[in-house]
Amino acid sequence: QLRTPLAGIKWSLDMLRKEERGALNAEQKDLMEKTFRTAEHMADLVNDLLDASRIEEGRFGYTFLTGDLTPLIQKIVDALKPTAEARNLHFTFEPAAAPLPAVSFDASKLELAVQNIVDNAIKYTMPQGSVTIKLRPEKSSLFLIVEDTGIGIPEKNKKFIFNKFFRGENAIRYQTEGSGLGLYIAKSIVEKHNGTITFESEENKGSVFMIQLP
Ligand code: ADP
Repeated sequence: QLRTPLAGIKWSLDMLRKEERGALNAEQKDLMEKTFRTAEHMADLVNDLLDASRIEEGRFGYTFLTGDLTPLIQKIVDALKPTAEARNLHFTFEPAAAPLPAVSFDASKLELAVQNIVDNAIKYTMPQGSVTIKLRPEKSSLFLIVEDTGIGIPEKNKKFIFNKFFRGENAIRYQTEGSGLGLYIAKSIVEKHNGTITFESEENKGSVFMIQLP
């Protein structure tokens, strides 16, 4: 009941901004674009809140399949490439050189987790910076590494980064939009895969997020 009305609003706004119901002057077009983006932001927030409440109530159902993770990561990279390019970032994916060992994963849940991490790397990196995604097998694990040259995480914020609704002070200054739920959701998903999620970061230098899956 939260999603459906929002989807309806977005659908109407999208039609209007694309001038499918008549031409708009520059000012009207600009206003429609802004309103559409606000509605998109609202829909993202609602999705994050619904996911977080499902996680808490144990209603976030999982279906595990075993296979190669590369196509899933490639799909996320392809989907986020236009956003990264619009922000003038060097955006690269380095798949593993050798065939990857099969891992057990829920594709849609892991997609959400990885998307949140890559989204953050894009969102918190200044234009001309870089975001690099790597897949590396190591011993009995598979590592997904997301590196960026962005704003980094202040030392005193580090211990709160996976908390629900927490947003770093520099992150709030740099990007006013954000729910503070992305990493909370990502961590919960990775842990359901018996994996771990860790990071290293230096303020004003960049961050590296690592997802390890067994
Ligand atoms: P949101 O991005 O909506 O604020 P998240 O839960 O995804 O929420 O992230 C929580 C906080 O972690 C962010 O507000 C930011 O302070 C920090 N963070 C996450 N990823 C990065 C990154 N790649 N670079 C800098 N800070 C980050």
